[in-house]
Amino acid sequence: MPAQEIVQTDYEVEIQARIDAERARLRAEAGLARMREFKKPVERTFTASERDYVTILFGGLTWKHEEMIKAVFHGSGYRCENIPTPVVADFQAGKEFGNNGQCNPTYFTVGNLVRYLQGLEQQGLTKQQIIDNYVFFTAGSCGPCRFGMYEAEYRFALKNSGFDAFRVLLFQQTDGIKAASGEPGLKFSVDFGMGMLNALNLGDVINELAYQVRPFEVKRGETDRVIQESVKKLTDTLRDRKRWHIKEAAPTWVKPLLAKHKKIEDIGCTLGKVTDNLYGKEYVNALHTCRDQINTIEVDRFRVKPVIKITGEFWAQTTEGDGNFNMFAFLEREGAQVLVEPIATWIAYMMYVAKEGAKARADAQATYKDVKWYEFHKRLTNELKLFKKTGGLSAGSAMWTYFYHRTIKHMGDTAHHLVPQKELSRLAHPFYHQLARGGEGYMEVGKNVYYTVNHLCHMVLALKPFGCMPSTQSDGVQSRVVNKFKDMIFLPIETSGEGEVNAHSRVQMALAEARAKARAEFDGVLHQTGKNLEDLREYVEGHPELKRALYKVPHCEGIAGTAAQFVSHVSDLMNNDKAWRRSRVQLSVSRAAA
Ligand code: SF4
Repeated sequence: MPAQEIVQTDYEVEIQARIDAERARLRAEAGLARMREFKKPVERTFTASERDYVTILFGGLTWKHEEMIKAVFHGSGYRCENIPTPVVADFQAGKEFGNNGQCNPTYFTVGNLVRYLQGLEQQGLTKQQIIDNYVFFTAGSCGPCRFGMYEAEYRFALKNSGFDAFRVLLFQQTDGIKAASGEPGLKFSVDFGMGMLNALNLGDVINELAYQVRPFEVKRGETDRVIQESVKKLTDTLRDRKRWHIKEAAPTWVKPLLAKHKKIEDIGCTLGKVTDNLYGKEYVNALHTCRDQINTIEVDRFRVKPVIKITGEFWAQTTEGDGNFNMFAFLEREGAQVLVEPIATWIAYMMYVAKEGAKARADAQATYKDVKWYEFHKRLTNELKLFKKTGGLSAGSAMWTYFYHRTIKHMGDTAHHLVPQKELSRLAHPFYHQLARGGEGYMEVGKNVYYTVNHLCHMVLALKPFGCMPSTQSDGVQSRVVNKFKDMIFLPIETSGEGEVNAHSRVQMALAEARAKARAEFDGVLHQTGKNLEDLREYVEGHPELKRALYKVPHCEGIAGTAAQFVSHVSDLMNNDKAWRRSRVQLSVSRAAA
């Protein structure tokens, strides 16, 4: 019946219209009515012609790393400044101008940039001059944690603080592996890339040496002074070293050949530059000069100090300021020896995770599925496809480790080698899956187990930023880890802009336990040697090389403390030193005769 159908249709149309109206009302009420797909704002690029007057800003690492990086920028012809270490006022500015509900490093770093720009304004620059003459250079990522939001957060806070068109250059976390940047003003030449590699490695090694030597220095303040001088020497070299070029270095008879074959010239030039950056006399001599400078510091390794291994989130465990409650300085004041984490570990981690991820996806992405064992061609095709993805990462990872360890070797060979990622992931795996990415991933758990079972520290202190998603995840797991390893002293500290007193007091309590552990270990080792401390000290007085900062004390399995290691080593030296033993016998005889 057509009439009835028409009535029904009208009725349905009416209902649909009302539903649509109600939906529109609810969406408007929820603020969704204006929702549009997000489009990244088009930003003015940083062009090569601007290099002469635009200053690149960056920050977020230790002052040692930053000085090295700055030197490489300067040496490559860029204007560059590092932003000072973030303080609580930066955190507050980050909260004021940024979004709510971010993690702690976001507030600190975003606020840090905004306040730096405000400082420039107070010095007399107009907003437009700042926007035209400065750009910010930072790492970025597509996630999975809030790191993926950093770029957007910077832009949002800059907009809210009146620096709307200020440029943020992104060095993608994943692009970092490929060493690529889309910004034409920032050109990744071989010299620049190799310089950055050296800068990061040197920053890491010299940072560790500072924490390794300072607690035992005899003259207070000497380590800081020498480290300052060494950093100056290294940065001068990174900035001013003569850039190698095949056109100058090649013998005269080769030059016409190079002029004819551009490709050969390019390959030769790249290889020569890589070699010169790593093995060049000027560079290696600078490392040796610093090593010798640091080695002049006199130390007293008999001081019993608990070794505190720092782990946690990347930024919180690296910064040396309010961002982690100035934790390293606090620990040293409390009589501890701090074992810091190099940035190199994080880079090794990224490469490892990229490789393992590719392996895990291999079956799903294989060209041929369900291949039988006798289908060699198909298997080979699949294997080659995987190798294309993982081969470069394996080679990159091996080279990265080699270059890092080489830097350690030239700087006295006392800093710690990188812990293999495979080992960290294996140790963490029963508790934390290696492909659960974000932040430090499995590393927090892996390091905790590694440093405990290998007796490399007395306590693990994990610095976890407030609001950090991956750290919260691994924190949940750590309680199970601690239950399994009964002698583990593990303390997670949540860092935020406030609560320093509370955090320090929690650390103090755990430190008391670590101190007792270090003391018991020292007494046990001393007892085992059968010698008294005075004799050991006397021996060291007679052998001044044992008081040098970079004297390499061989590692003794099962002992974590520097003093206990040293006692064991000096005792071994005394046992094997016939001249010393003879002199002791003579002394006892003459004492008896007297
Ligand atoms: S790891 Fe944690 S603190 Fe770091 S960016 Fe991600 S969520 Fe923030």
